[in-house]
Amino acid sequence: MAHVSTVVRKYVCTNCQVAHAGERVQVSPAKFGAPESCGACGETEFIWIKNWLNNHE
Ligand SMILES: [Zn+2]
Repeated sequence: MAHVSTVVRKYVCTNCQVAHAGERVQVSPAKFGAPESCGACGETEFIWIKNWLNNHE
């Protein structure tokens, strides 16, 4: 299998700040979206990690 360098977007739960890898919503071209809900607390609101980092500097 050829190695494909796909950037996986990460999202941060707005409630508990746990980072989640984006879920693949489209195979080709690869697209990622925020998870449906947080695995740790069940929150459904996520912020893209890049925006989250910008807001926490
Ligand atoms: Zn959470």
